[in-house]
Order: sequence, then C-alpha cells, then structure tokens
Amino acid sequence: MNGRIVIVDDEPITRMDIRGMLEAENYNVVAEAADGIEAIEVCKQHHPDLVIMDISMPLLDGLKASKKILAEKYAKAIILLTAYSDKENIEKAKKYGISGYLIKPIMEKSLTPMVEVAIATGTKTREYEVSLEKLTKKLSERKLIEKAKGIIMIEQNMSEDQAYQLLRDLSMNKRCPIAEIAEMFVVSDD
Ligand SMILES: [Mg+2]
Repeated sequence: MNGRIVIVDDEPITRMDIRGMLEAENYNVVAEAADGIEAIEVCKQHHPDLVIMDISMPLLDGLKASKKILAEKYAKAIILLTAYSDKENIEKAKKYGISGYLIKPIMEKSLTPMVEVAIATGTKTREYEVSLEKLTKKLSERKLIEKAKGIIMIEQNMSEDQAYQLLRDLSMNKRCPIAEIAEMFVVSDD
C-alpha cells in the first residue's frame, strides 16, 4: 500500500470520486467523514498518513478540524479541498501546517502527485519531530543530572565523581532511570 488516507467531504459523490482515484493508485482509504467533528474522530482512531479535507462543511469546517488534527498529531499531513481559493483561508492553511490545497473539481492528474508529495513530506516531518523530541528529552535529562550532582556535592560533601556514582548506584538499586533519581534530588531542593 502507498499510504493510509482519510477522505472528508460533506458531499458523498465527492468522497466517492476521490476514493476511486486513490484506490486506482493503490492508496488505502481507511475511513471517510462528512464533517469536521467526524473527521477529528476518525483521525484520532486511524492516525492516517494523509487527510484529504473539504473546507466548507456543516458543524465544523475543514480548517478548524485540520488545526485540531495537526495539533494533536492525529494525522501526518492534510490536503485541503475548496471550491474557490481565498486569501484568508490560504493564510490559515499556512499557519496550521497544511501540506497542500486543491481547487474543485478534483482532477486525478493534480490529485495524485500532491498526495504522493504530502505523504512523503508528512512522514519525514514526523521523523524529525520524533528525533527532536528524543534530543530534547536527553538534553533535559542531562541538565537534571548535572543539577542533582551539584546538590549532592554540597549536601553530602562529595566530589563530582562520587556524586555521580551515588546517582548511578541509586538508579541501579532502585531499578529506576538515573534521570528520575536526579529529579528527586532537584525537586526536594526547590
Ligand atoms: Mg463542502
């Protein structure tokens, strides 16, 4: 399969058309939705690679739904569909991190390349986010350990090496990550 996709449009015929084009290209359409609220629900459930989302829909429009879906990381990428392009919506789309914009009626020759690029960049962006999260976590853990060492050195009158050894021993004895042990010293000192 080329990617897992959710189609959101209040017009069943539009959903059917898009589904047909995508399935012809071996994409896996995992769910459909007819309004913004349903869109959020199905994305939360399926975590698709891509959402193809109409802007103008009842209950909750596609822009508001997109903002929520991307903020919660329920989908890797979103392409918006609209009957006409207006500046205000394009500005919002840029701000929310939308991957693409298609004007109806949707043509297969413009849909497929945009879908392919959006899935690829969305997947890449997610990989960057994950490694950035890991790095940030590592960095904050390192800071925590440094801070804890400083506190132990003063309170226990230990050298830096001894303080670190104490943290490591506690970590092993308590079967607890060293950063969590460090946090106990830092928190109790605040
Ligand atoms: Mg509509």
